[in-house]
Formats: sequence, C-alpha cells, structure tokens
Amino acid sequence: MTKTKPAVFANTVLTWFDQHGRKHLPWQKNINAYRVWVSEIMLQQTQVSTVIPYFERFMARFPTVRELALAPIDEVLHLWTGLGYYARARNLHKAAKHVVQQHNGEFPRSVEALTELSGVGRSTAGAISSIAFGDRAAILDGNVKRVLARYHGVDGWPGQTQTLNALWALAEAATPNERNADYTQAMMDLGATLCTRSKPACETCPLMGGCVAFGTGRTAELPGKKPRKTLPEKQVQLIMLRNPQGEILLEQRPASGIWGGLWSFPELSIAACARDFAQSRYACAGTPVTWDSWRHTFSHYHLDINPVLIELAHMPTGVQESGQRWVNPAHPGSLGLAAPVKKLLQQLVDATPLC
Ligand code: SF4
Repeated sequence: MTKTKPAVFANTVLTWFDQHGRKHLPWQKNINAYRVWVSEIMLQQTQVSTVIPYFERFMARFPTVRELALAPIDEVLHLWTGLGYYARARNLHKAAKHVVQQHNGEFPRSVEALTELSGVGRSTAGAISSIAFGDRAAILDGNVKRVLARYHGVDGWPGQTQTLNALWALAEAATPNERNADYTQAMMDLGATLCTRSKPACETCPLMGGCVAFGTGRTAELPGKKPRKTLPEKQVQLIMLRNPQGEILLEQRPASGIWGGLWSFPELSIAACARDFAQSRYACAGTPVTWDSWRHTFSHYHLDINPVLIELAHMPTGVQESGQRWVNPAHPGSLGLAAPVKKLLQQLVDATPLC
C-alpha cells in the first residue's frame, strides 16, 4: 500500500470523475451560486434521488434568490414538506433575505462571507465557492469525510473536534489548484457511489491501491461511529378535530423547535383527557376515537404519536384563532406540513367518515 501525494490523489479522483462522475444532475445545469446553494442544502442528510424532484419544484417556483426572499415562509415550507430537517428551509429563507438586503442579490464569493449566511457551514461554503465560482476551496461533507477517513485510516468519530480537524487538514491538502469544481463534485460522487457506508465498492475504486481501510480490512470500522446513547422517549396526543363539513383544524407551530413554523394538529400531553380538552373549547364535541399510535424518531428523541379523532356536531363559532385554520384534508393547500401530519390527513381522507 503506497500512499499517494495530494496532487496524485486529486488527479486519480479527477480521472475517475471524467469517466464515471455524475454530470447531468439538475443543479449541474445553468450553474450559479443560488442553484448550487439550494442543492447543497437539500442534499444535506438526503439522497440525490430524493432531492431531484424537490429541487426542480423549488427552482420552478423560486428561480432566483430574490423570488425566494420575497416568498412567504409558509410557501417555502410547503415546498419542503417531506424532505425533513425543516430548519434547513427556514435558514434558506432567512439567508435569501440576507443576500438580497446585504449583497444586493449577489452571492458573496469568499468562504468566510458565505459562512455568514444562515445554515451555511464551512463545507457548504466551500462547495458553493468551488462549484459556482471555480475558486480553490475544500469541502468536507459526510461523503468526503468517509472517503478521507478510510483512505488515510483516520480513527475516531468525525463529530469529535480532533478527528474533524485532522480530516479538514487532509481535505485542504488534497484540494487541487485546477479543476476545483470537478474535484469537489468527484469527491462527493465517489463517496456516494463507491465509498458507501455499507459495502463500499473497493474493487472498482481508483483509490484502492493506497487506501488504508481497504489494505487493512477496516472499511466497516472507518469512519468511527458516533458513541451510542439511548434516545429519550416522549409521547404526545395529536387531536384531529373534524367539523361537520369534514374540515380539520390545524395550527401553526412556533418558529423554533420541532416542525418549527409547520402546520400541525393541536397537541396534548399523553396524560391529558382529549374529551375534556375538546369539550372545554367546543361544547359540541363528540366522543374521542383513538387511532393506532406509532413512533417517529428525531435525531435527539423518539416521539410516540397518539392520534385522536374528535367529531364536532356543529360548526364552532369563533374557533379560528390566529395561527389556526380549518383545512380540507384532501386539499390542505400550500401549507408546510410535517410528514406525520401529512400521513394522518391522508388517513382521514381514506377512512370512512364517522357519523
Ligand atoms: S478503496 Fe474502498 S474504502 Fe478505500 S476509498 Fe475506495 S471505496 Fe473507499
């Protein structure tokens, strides 16, 4: 196993990219900083195949950063519905306003200035600088971390500062002066298509000859895993109030926290009585019907969701407080909905209406 110099490493990766890299993804057409930025944010924690339709819908509605900045946040969240990690959409909207107000609608070019945008870290800034402007800038997203940790045999979980710093140093050293945009794309592609989390395709990898993980049989161990900890468990009741017209009451969640800014059902703690809750607000509430519960897991806790359907005998008056809306579950309109809420609305459509 012979360790290659950074320039040879980059050339090897670029040669592979010329033959096998992806060159026809939607954000590789009409390249500009705005399109690269949106694609990079969508691709965080999300696979290319999932992102493509979201990216295309987003670009059709918001073709420029100015249009995104002017849009209501509800519409941005609506186009994000199903992608998860909604803070990304809120940050995107905030950063678009910043670009318009502080940079006259032109993206800054330097990594330092780009990292001042909400939701843009060093790696995303590097990708924008490199792909959109062709500047020499290193990236270190999850794919690149995996390739570098395996190739160089870097121990430790990349979330730890020491390991992260070591990987950044390697990423900086390997970044070439020329064809930087192609190199950035090549490293992301190599990590996504060959050096995958499980079962990396080492036999077809151009880096196999110098790869420490391959040479020592440690591809399954590297990069190091995040120390396991047991996620806390929480329980909640989601109250689906249905009026006689078949509409469901949704309310907008606070801007921060889980599903921030999205629309959801009124929530109750698991210990609270759904009937008392409904009767206290709407005297015409019928008997609650409890639906099957299921578990939704966030990165930091499990949430056991207990849906409860309550029929209202009469259309309540004065119910619609600010931040609340009656919606047709089959056509909730352009509201941002968390995946569990979308799922329950669909189940309400599918279920036989109760009399
Ligand atoms: S040889 Fe295998 S482990 Fe090493 S970089 Fe290539 S795909 Fe990853």
